[in-house]
Amino acid sequence: SPSDINPTLLDFDLPSQVVAKVAVLAPVAEVLDYAVPDGMALEVGDHVMVPLAHHKVRGVVASVEAAQATHFKLKAVVAKIDDPPVPRASLEFWLWATGWTLTPPGVFLNGCIGALKTPKAQAKQAYVLTGAQPAKLTRARERVMEQAVVSLSLTELSQAAGVSPSVIKGLETEGVMARVEVAAEVFGVPDPQFKTPALNPSQAAADELLRQKQAVGGFCPVLLDGVTGSGKTEVYLESVARTLSRDPKAQVLILLPEIALTQAVMARLKARFGADPVPWHSALTPSQRRKIWEGVASGEVRLVVGARSALFLPYLKLDLIVVDEEHDGSYKQEEGVRYQARDLAVVRAHRDKFMIILASATPSLESLSNAQKGRYEWIRLTERHGTAQLPDIHLIDMKVHPPGKTEMGDPLWLSAPLVAEIEHTLARKEQVLLFLNRRGYAPLVLCRACGERMTAPNTDSWLVEHRATGRLVCHLTGFSMKKPDRCPHCGALDSLAAIGPGVERILEEVRSRFPAARAEIFSSDTTPDAASSEALIKRVQDHDTDILVATQAAAKGHNFLNLTLVGIVDADLGLKGGDLRAAERTFQLLAQATGRAGRAHKAGKALLQTYSPEHPVMQALKAQDREAFYAYEQMTRELAKFPPFGRLAAVIMSSKDQAELNRFSRELALTIPNTDGVEVYGPADAPLSLVRGQWRKRFLVRADRNRDLQGFMAAWLRTVKKPNIIRLVTDIDPYSF
Ligand code: ADP
Repeated sequence: SPSDINPTLLDFDLPSQVVAKVAVLAPVAEVLDYAVPDGMALEVGDHVMVPLAHHKVRGVVASVEAAQATHFKLKAVVAKIDDPPVPRASLEFWLWATGWTLTPPGVFLNGCIGALKTPKAQAKQAYVLTGAQPAKLTRARERVMEQAVVSLSLTELSQAAGVSPSVIKGLETEGVMARVEVAAEVFGVPDPQFKTPALNPSQAAADELLRQKQAVGGFCPVLLDGVTGSGKTEVYLESVARTLSRDPKAQVLILLPEIALTQAVMARLKARFGADPVPWHSALTPSQRRKIWEGVASGEVRLVVGARSALFLPYLKLDLIVVDEEHDGSYKQEEGVRYQARDLAVVRAHRDKFMIILASATPSLESLSNAQKGRYEWIRLTERHGTAQLPDIHLIDMKVHPPGKTEMGDPLWLSAPLVAEIEHTLARKEQVLLFLNRRGYAPLVLCRACGERMTAPNTDSWLVEHRATGRLVCHLTGFSMKKPDRCPHCGALDSLAAIGPGVERILEEVRSRFPAARAEIFSSDTTPDAASSEALIKRVQDHDTDILVATQAAAKGHNFLNLTLVGIVDADLGLKGGDLRAAERTFQLLAQATGRAGRAHKAGKALLQTYSPEHPVMQALKAQDREAFYAYEQMTRELAKFPPFGRLAAVIMSSKDQAELNRFSRELALTIPNTDGVEVYGPADAPLSLVRGQWRKRFLVRADRNRDLQGFMAAWLRTVKKPNIIRLVTDIDPYSF
């Protein structure tokens, strides 16, 4: 307001004015200055409409200052929008993240306030009984009055009673019913004391350490490192409870990989806190998103359980973050704005000085290194809760035990030792999980006549055969087509051959080898929604199925008490990727998948089929010697000065115009600043060099830890004018390259 203006700033020739810096929701590189009209009270975090070029766009106020007017006339804010303001700490974090990810502020904020684009829900009106008696009681009126015991809207009530709305209106006119406003959405209030668990001694020790650290206060990153089933969840839920009870305004965020956000997890939280936690994931409706956004901004929502983007909700007073399965690759967003939610969560806790708990049975190399160096508090849980045992792990050398072929000459995929073990397990009336992280029947379809590999149109990734639906599907672009009878390239009839196995093909082999066993697939194709995956999990728990052939959809979180054998069909699969984290991801995924075997009182066994049993990943899995794997992996990364011993970034350029893309990328290569401790590789074709008709090239940037990577990138990318037909995105800490 004008009274805040510092008089020393005033220039007597020019009037003073109030200027708002606004992050406009448009791809402009900076926050923009706008004049605040007289009489408009604006604060940081307010939503406004501002003029931009010839349009009006939405924006968020990043700062308001009194400034001396200049001869250059600023455009004025058009209007203030009546939406809950973004709390300051959240806004400042978002603006910091725009700089970190090298994203224009408006583009970044667009993701953070996207929920507000849905119009506010109208306050619901309900019809209630006043207690007055109607002059005449018809059968229709009677039905209305029976239904009106719960508050329903006009439409709902007329449907429930099976009468026309005029019957209800008539009752209103007579004063028998009244229209009332129903209160806005109320979120469940978690009760920290609702059901406290009896912790076992190692859990209690971990909890005590967390209590002490939290009592000291301030930024405190913790790696909660414990084998699967050791009870990490119970431990971090106690910290959640403590945070909620010591400050009635504190908010807590539990981040989970999207795939782990199941009914089972929600039910577990409800059992602990007596109220439904507020979820945040991709399946919410737009109006649910808006309500939750508002509830988080007002502080009414105390406990959020969400996937990575929940980090960017507008918390009023965030005081604890838990990142469960912190090593999980799905915390890295690889499309649109690219960010690593776990890493940014640590920054959030650091900025606002609170505790963050990173939980995993197989921590990321980054977090483990931080724990080893003492940057993170390191809490270890080394035993499974109760009497549960770790599984016995064996390697099957596929060079020694090739699975052979069927009588028809089709390849088989299960080796004799694995088949024998499946037989024994079924004979004991126990269950089997066969793990292969590949959806569909075959990852590649190839023409035997001409050698053509089937790909999606204008895309260089292979089409995956899905026999259940008779279609060829591109998992990257979503393209799909009916499997043709003839090769589209050479026209040969019935020449298309399925190469390699997917889960459907393994199921086919399982059914022919074990016709008496009940077998089914557990993948995102067979469990497209929560209801179907809950139903499948229940079938496994009730032992209505004997053999599960599963992708990573089943690798996480479920406790199947009677499942005692895990067979890894192709343990080498993930190692072939060739990127920085291939070995780490393979180790984590297989450690987790083998951890599914044996819970409670039954010992489990895991068999890994591999062509390279001597590989350090396989040896470490077999010996259950995690430290050996991490030591090997750390050494490899340290030699290459790759993360966490260096920093990485990628620049991905794409265009429909291949010639222009090549020209632009060469031009960019010529302007790479010569900086000590920073190397730029490329331009090279991106791993997927053609997607939906867009050609893709990229640079990879490696910098020493102490270099300002973002500063280097910004300075470099500023040097060349980018033609509009080229799209350029930067990826700090890329995961797939
Ligand atoms: P993690 O998160 O480490 O994999 P969980 O917290 O899911 O382990 O615990 C594994 C199983 O042990 C769960 O079924 C859980 O309910 C049970 N459990 C863990 N701690 C306790 C405890 N103190 N008392 C009773 N059951 C527990």
